[in-house]
Amino acid sequence: MERIAIVQLGYESNTFVDTRAGLYDLAPDGWIDAKTVVERFTGSRTGIGGILTALAEGGAAAVPMDLLSRNGAFNAGGIVDGDFWRSAVAHICTQLRQRAAEYDGVCIALHGAACADGLDDADGWFLRQVRQAVGQKPVTAFLDLHAIVTPEMLAMTDALFGVKTCPHVDFWETGRLAARTLLGILRSELQPRMAWQPLPLLVPASMVSTLSGTGKEVREYMAERTAAHGLIDAAFFHGFSSADTEYTCACVVAVGNGEAPEAAVREMARHIWSLRHRFCQPGFSAAEAVDAALAAVKDGYAVINETSDNPGGGCPGDGTHLLAELLRRDVKGAIFGVIYDPAAAEACHRAGVGATLALSVGGHTDPLFGPPLAVEVEVLALSDGWFTCVSPMYQGLRLGYGPTARVRCGQVEMVLVSRRMQSYDDRPLLMTGAKMEDYRLVALKSSNHFRAYFLHTADAIIAADTPGLFPADPRKLTYRHLRRPIFPLDEDTAFEV
Ligand SMILES: [Zn+2]
Repeated sequence: MERIAIVQLGYESNTFVDTRAGLYDLAPDGWIDAKTVVERFTGSRTGIGGILTALAEGGAAAVPMDLLSRNGAFNAGGIVDGDFWRSAVAHICTQLRQRAAEYDGVCIALHGAACADGLDDADGWFLRQVRQAVGQKPVTAFLDLHAIVTPEMLAMTDALFGVKTCPHVDFWETGRLAARTLLGILRSELQPRMAWQPLPLLVPASMVSTLSGTGKEVREYMAERTAAHGLIDAAFFHGFSSADTEYTCACVVAVGNGEAPEAAVREMARHIWSLRHRFCQPGFSAAEAVDAALAAVKDGYAVINETSDNPGGGCPGDGTHLLAELLRRDVKGAIFGVIYDPAAAEACHRAGVGATLALSVGGHTDPLFGPPLAVEVEVLALSDGWFTCVSPMYQGLRLGYGPTARVRCGQVEMVLVSRRMQSYDDRPLLMTGAKMEDYRLVALKSSNHFRAYFLHTADAIIAADTPGLFPADPRKLTYRHLRRPIFPLDEDTAFEV
């Protein structure tokens, strides 16, 4: 029976955010003990759940290491503190060395857009340490669709697999494929060979969903060509447009059996390049977004997603541009869920339900995202912040916002939370007793992942591109390290394979 070591270390760094990330940012509840992994993730819709499924199906044994994971998911924020990243990698590699006799191969859950101090390619550096720890044993990994894939990452692994959807609803499938392929290598049934084609293209990570439009068209094209070429896998990685590194760009990675599918990745990359102008879409100002949402709402509610302050893109989640507009207009039936403000949430918990108090809400991290707002609020409800996701993206996963309060200021309600995390579905509001049918305008901080739930439940979805560090248009950011030329920063960029 094959025995597979399971590892997770994943993070997405927005290098424009002026904070350093540590343990709390990568995994707010700390390391997940190796002994608890199988019981905790068996049956879950996570990538780790997919790996465990493949091993059970294949009659192989799971040998988990301690996971650095937000309950199976990946977090995002600023650049990772270099000492912390090195110590986390050392912890993983020490386990891999000490338990070397217990496993035959390694399967890794990796986001693939981490930067740490002094390590712009923090994932490639991590994989090199893993390779040194495990020697010739095969290593496969799966990556987020927003991964920045580097030559080092390709060199240090036997096969890399990519999530194909945004919202990311196929982590489970991707983890399963990575583990199945690893078993195929160990059984001498597969000889995966990778081909990689970078594109001089920044895909606006805040705007491109695969549920509709060009993103959907490309996803379907990739699936069709993957089958036509008989590949084990092929993924179009959008990359992460708010990471200013020399490696940042979109790319195609394909995994063939026996030979590297060089011709296939070139064909796919050329086709995607021909669609480059369609990846850029405009976003609305706060005022325009509120106008558009109110005009679009029918019997239910419209959603405004403040994409430029998405904690899932590494942003603070406490920006006040859109909130200020709702308060200024005193929009009846509006709720903002959620705003990151632990001090305000704690003050509400101290005051209790029914209390009225003065708060300085949001705007505590970076002036670009708007100033703190002085408001007088009534506390409507309190929560410990824990909920179980119903979104197809993280269905069944327990996630926590920490102490949470729902308050009202004039006719506008807001949900104040103590952890940075984007909204995936209605649960962050429902955990405070707020039911969607009681509102006509729901504002939230997310770019695409919320769509998995709200696309079919909201009357309309309007993206607000207020001043922030995860803009709809990457031309709003000042890059210093990107390889140039790159589209759309350089309009007449040429692409040759
Ligand atoms: Zn992503």
